Amino acid sequence: PRLVRLDDNWLSLPNPHGVPVEICAGPDVPLEAAAVDELLTVLETAGTLRTLGSARIDRVVCTPDFHKGAGIPIGTVIQTTGALIPAAVGNDINCGMRVETTALTVDRIRPHLDALERRLRHLFFEGGRRIGLTAARREGLLRYGLSGLFADGVPDADGGAWAQVRPDDVTGLDGRLHATGFPAESAAGFEDWISSGGGVSYDSIIGSIGGGNHFAELQYVSAVHDGAAAHAWGLAPGRVVLTVHSGSLSLGHQAGALGRDAARAAWPRGLPMPRNGILPLAGDPARYLTAFRNAANFAIGNRFFLAMMLRAGLADVAGEVGARLIYDAPHNLLWPSADGTVVHRKGATPAGGPTGDPHRLYGEPVIVPGSMGAPSYLLRGLDAPRALGSAAHGAGRRVPRGAAARGSDAELDAFLRDFRVVTPLDHRDPAVLARRDIIDAWRRDLKQEAPWAYKDVAPVVDSLRGAGVASPVVELRPLLTVKG
Ligand code: 5GP
Ligand code: MN
Ligand code: MN
Repeated sequence: PRLVRLDDNWLSLPNPHGVPVEICAGPDVPLEAAAVDELLTVLETAGTLRTLGSARIDRVVCTPDFHKGAGIPIGTVIQTTGALIPAAVGNDINCGMRVETTALTVDRIRPHLDALERRLRHLFFEGGRRIGLTAARREGLLRYGLSGLFADGVPDADGGAWAQVRPDDVTGLDGRLHATGFPAESAAGFEDWISSGGGVSYDSIIGSIGGGNHFAELQYVSAVHDGAAAHAWGLAPGRVVLTVHSGSLSLGHQAGALGRDAARAAWPRGLPMPRNGILPLAGDPARYLTAFRNAANFAIGNRFFLAMMLRAGLADVAGEVGARLIYDAPHNLLWPSADGTVVHRKGATPAGGPTGDPHRLYGEPVIVPGSMGAPSYLLRGLDAPRALGSAAHGAGRRVPRGAAARGSDAELDAFLRDFRVVTPLDHRDPAVLARRDIIDAWRRDLKQEAPWAYKDVAPVVDSLRGAGVASPVVELRPLLTVKG
């Protein structure tokens, strides 16, 4: 009753704060009441900004994968004028999805899945990734993104992730808007990570997936909906595709904490703290923005290496992989404009339209993964102003984490028989199976990420298409998912 349906694909949320709020969702998309409650408390921020004077929330848009978050729902786009709200970006700064196409077909890979699983376990969880980085490369990555990472060329590698870098990864980044990096004045505050070890050093952070709903997945094209765009992106039926979902790990949390502390410190004395705890960043945001860019660049580098690790696994079983970047799409980020407006996307992906640039001839690639074991979609953005140029970044959670853990054992067993999940723990090893305590915890975690914990992706994609936000290019089906 609180939501008012406007048409087939849009709802509005009338609110006492006078903020225009629209939710993109067709009739078949389940919407959580708790998420609507949470959104109403977020809107109190409009009142907070009013007391501060010049700043305001212009508009709020929610995507069809909208669900409850910790303070601000996932799938919320907030446009402000004169205010930057660190909490509206999410904790995992520049969490995002990287998608690559390959020269391989599913028939070529299917017979080798057992060997591939062993290789990927070694690469992801048993030290096989060998991402040696000098302090200069680490600082370069945090300050400039991939161009900083490659400033000294590509090092000679004896296997592992570096061995997979192709010339196009180093020079072919122009126009791939978010894949390159966000130049930052310094990398101050991250000295610990930069100098870890001295010389060429390895660490346990870069190249990690990050647990929970983050993943590295091998998929193949199962249906083509837009032949011209698919062809331009190097996609055809049966083609093997790599998708990586990860963020900025501990570096993003560090930058996020800095933003929250800065916002608290700048809060005017004597003014009561807002009830919802959401604070804008008053005063000069320069220091926060620098840390924010450092973390965002780290996330780009992390996804880059995760993709190289998938390539390395494929190369071991199939020889030449021929992988090529399609897009790196951030879904926890802010976009300040010269006119003083800021678009904050928390769990929403940019869906800009065709620009005439060769890389954006068909619009910005929009990556909508379903869930572990379920289909995913690649769409092309149409730059819908009503949606603030934003699309869903997944199917979205259907049941909260705790509830999903109570799912049935039989269902999980059936899922594990049908689908290949690669985790740090080899659940088919008899020695591991004998450790009940470890296996039980592992099963509990996996249930939180099982397909039944997520919405069906089809109605989400239908809503985006129906609302003119993005148009489907291909459907992808998973071959295996690395979680951990
Ligand atoms: P989030 O960025 O909010 O953490 O999650 C993004 C989306 O990824 C989720 O809403 C869900 O639809 C999707 N997802 C989560 N786990 C997996 C997975 O293992 N494989 C695929 N293809 N999608 C997933
Ligand atoms: Mn994410
Ligand atoms: Mn994340």
